[in-house]
Amino acid sequence: MKKYLLAIDQGTTSTRAILYSKERKIFYKTQVEVKNFFPKEGYVEQDALDIYLSVLNVINDIITKTNISIDEIDSLGITNQRETTIVWDKKTGMPVYNAIVWQSRQSNSYCEKWEKYKDLIHKKTGLILNPYFSASKIRYILDHIKDGQARAEKGELLFGTVDSWLIYKLTKNHYTDITNASRTMLFNINSLDYDDELLKIFNIPRIMLPEVLSSNDYYGDANIFGSKIKINGVAGDQQSSLFGQACFDVGSSKSTYGTGCFMLVNIGETPVYSKNGLLTTIAWKINNKVTYALEGSVFMGGATIQWLRDQIGLIQQASESEKYAKKVNNELGVYIVPAFVGLGAPYWDNECKGAIFGLTRGTTKAHLIRATLNSIAFQVKDIINVMENEGDCKIQTLKVDGGATANNYLMQFQADILNKDIILPEFIEVTALGAIYLAGLGSGYFSSLDEIKNLNKVEKIFKPQMNKEEINKLDKNWKKAIEATRLFK
Ligand code: ADP
Repeated sequence: MKKYLLAIDQGTTSTRAILYSKERKIFYKTQVEVKNFFPKEGYVEQDALDIYLSVLNVINDIITKTNISIDEIDSLGITNQRETTIVWDKKTGMPVYNAIVWQSRQSNSYCEKWEKYKDLIHKKTGLILNPYFSASKIRYILDHIKDGQARAEKGELLFGTVDSWLIYKLTKNHYTDITNASRTMLFNINSLDYDDELLKIFNIPRIMLPEVLSSNDYYGDANIFGSKIKINGVAGDQQSSLFGQACFDVGSSKSTYGTGCFMLVNIGETPVYSKNGLLTTIAWKINNKVTYALEGSVFMGGATIQWLRDQIGLIQQASESEKYAKKVNNELGVYIVPAFVGLGAPYWDNECKGAIFGLTRGTTKAHLIRATLNSIAFQVKDIINVMENEGDCKIQTLKVDGGATANNYLMQFQADILNKDIILPEFIEVTALGAIYLAGLGSGYFSSLDEIKNLNKVEKIFKPQMNKEEINKLDKNWKKAIEATRLFK
């Protein structure tokens, strides 16, 4: 058995790599930025070749800085920004259009046209009809290049999400993993195959789609600088982080506190469909067994702190928010509803805008900052409540990761209002760690999920300390603030 495992975490703004050693330690990590283009309002694109080169760059950095040769690396795991859509020429291997990034709204008009199929789409794919997912982005590309549809039908063009694109460039195999496939809006999460009825509705030829493999399958040998590494694990970023957090049991869940917050809960082997706008998605498929997850997201997570810093100027750095929040004993009745881009689950209100309530002469900068941090935790709680109800599971503890987990005040407040333990891992790059675990599981480097479960070290546990009365009061006021916000349109 070779000594190292390598993971690539190809994200929206950066590509990261970590090298994991036989001593079960992170041996080295590195990252480079990836450029985003905004050609028009609401459009977000990337150069697909740039994405591929950024991967070679981080691997090169690892090889040169650590003096470890490619031959010493057992396997490669890939995790990636999901839904981002790339179409390339089968003969030349070159992209025929920029990568359309998940956030991009440029294919919205197709979704408006498909509105009458939204229930069918939900039932088959677990997703909500939305331009985030790949289907309308593929349609957009085929309609915006010369002879797109005809070339795709002839098998001259190939589609892939970022995992698939990287696998193709590295191995020449046209594969994707099942978690990424489940975000295309083309994949039936019950039959575990692309859905012919949807393909017909979207007019997307099956011949251009990658073959779907399990999360810890063998994807081929990556040809890197003249040497080869087996690719043995692939997953979309949120699923990889759920795996990296070792959320292997039903009801185990994680929340990532980044720009937005992403929550996933393991719901086991049977999909559950949400009535409140959560997504049903494939968490992983290992040894022929599919595990499903419910997923919810908060649009304005750490982004609210960026707003305090960049738009309002209350702080210079995100980390200062903790100091101010702790300066005062309570929020002094101040509630902020950060509906800057409307409200997501469980309210789904696109029209409402952000609001601040409860201002008095006594309100200080510290109260406003504290109320802003509280708003992140309230939004997460709203989603966790739906997950527990609809997933029919009790979430005992919440594992956390992402930049804003550096804020001890926020994590403690979250534990308090959820009345659950919040578990912060020692190694925070759990998304990349998930890819390491999957690749190692694929190659036999790790023997079982139980072995992996014992590898994660806990940095800190935030224990709930608030009494029930206080929680009820906060909950009631938050609900009132939400209701009032929704009246102002
Ligand atoms: P992303 O992966 O979405 O870019 P990160 O996981 O890197 O996000 O986290 C960055 C986000 O976390 C930013 O929105 C920032 O405002 C927030 N953040 C970083 N440090 C803190 C902190 N100490 N307190 C609160 N928010 C923070």
